[in-house]
Amino acid sequence: MNAEIIAVGSELLTPQRMDTNSLFITDQLNVLGIEVTMKTIVGDDRSQLTSVIAAAVKRSDVVVLTGGLGPTEDDVTRDAVGAAMGLGQTYSNEVEAQILARFQRAGRKMAENNKRQAMVLDTAEVLPNERGTAPALWIDYDGRSVMLLPGPPNEMKPLFVGQCIPKLKAKMPPLVIRTRFYRVAGMGESDVDQLIAPVYTKYANPVTTILAAPSDIQLHLRARCAEAEEAERLLAEVGGPIEELLGDRIYSRNGDPLEAAVGNLMRARQVTLAVAESCTGGMLAERITGIAGSSDYFVGGFLTYTNAMKSLLLGVDAELIEKHTAVSEQVAVAMAQGAREKTGANFALSVTGYAGPGGGTEENPVGTVFIGIAHAAGAQAKRFKFFGDRMRMRQMATQTALDLLRRHLG
Ligand code: AMP
Ligand code: MG
Repeated sequence: MNAEIIAVGSELLTPQRMDTNSLFITDQLNVLGIEVTMKTIVGDDRSQLTSVIAAAVKRSDVVVLTGGLGPTEDDVTRDAVGAAMGLGQTYSNEVEAQILARFQRAGRKMAENNKRQAMVLDTAEVLPNERGTAPALWIDYDGRSVMLLPGPPNEMKPLFVGQCIPKLKAKMPPLVIRTRFYRVAGMGESDVDQLIAPVYTKYANPVTTILAAPSDIQLHLRARCAEAEEAERLLAEVGGPIEELLGDRIYSRNGDPLEAAVGNLMRARQVTLAVAESCTGGMLAERITGIAGSSDYFVGGFLTYTNAMKSLLLGVDAELIEKHTAVSEQVAVAMAQGAREKTGANFALSVTGYAGPGGGTEENPVGTVFIGIAHAAGAQAKRFKFFGDRMRMRQMATQTALDLLRRHLG
């Protein structure tokens, strides 16, 4: 079953307002196993909306409209649905009574134009709205389900979850949904896709979705079948080869972020960690300590932005910095060693680099970051070159540092 969402409202076409309703609706539909294949944002324009609806009810099993059910002239959704689907409208005394009662409860007088909201499309079922004046309407149309929902999210959500979802569920063939979830570090989105596309593109079920963030790729596999065993079998058929191809680049199978996955490894190995940060300015420590229970393994960190602080707090030899500059393999190693020695932690990570947009040298331009690790068997640092804005480079640096530690713990 496929669905289409039409968000109505001229304000949604301005930079000030976002269509968040469709995200919520999509999430709810996906849980049911209904894929959203299209969504449209239309201004408060009767003829444009009519043509969008006319096309939607031809191609989609489920059409969800939000917005444009208000009492004013610019609220045209009901009229447009009527025009597109050839349905008349009848005044409902029952709906009028509900709207009146609502105004009375609030101690307000009902405006004349609120009566517009008592017009009901022929064949439509009225779904009462506990939080506003405009009721939702549900129409069974040629085997398809069309629903009109009010725009305000606090009205739309309970109506959709409480009344539309159960009605849709009743129409669905009984299906079970099983999912697999992978998170991958140290690879870009296109590299991941190039590697695994030959596997997943052969299958329409499970559906594979790739979500990308800086140096953090999430893969979702969602299988829908009549039987749970069949769904699990399909997930294994697609997930197995994907796991093999990505190997130890997969750091999480339950949705945990990298700092949580690394934290669990440290707890299991009963080891501790300290950090020494320059260009990430505490972001690495912030990520690590964002995980509840991180005090089990995290001892603390050093935020050493200047050369002097690197020497003062971490004991990095000033001559070493003079000779190689602060952004160098040698200094990254010395920072990690210093952090480990000063704290007595089993592991220490260090980050030093040029996050930009200014700075950098010919040899090490903006985006160059050295990441070091110190452990019982010694210390090393690696040079990385990241791209993007300052924030992105800092994120990449923390992600890469955490992944370096993960590989040492693995
Ligand atoms: P309406 O039902 O068109 O009168 O919409 C009333 C209000 O609901 C608008 O002013 C918006 O603040 C909000 N709204 C309408 N559509 C959406 C949407 N798709 N996403 C989020 N908010 C919306
Ligand atoms: Mg509107």
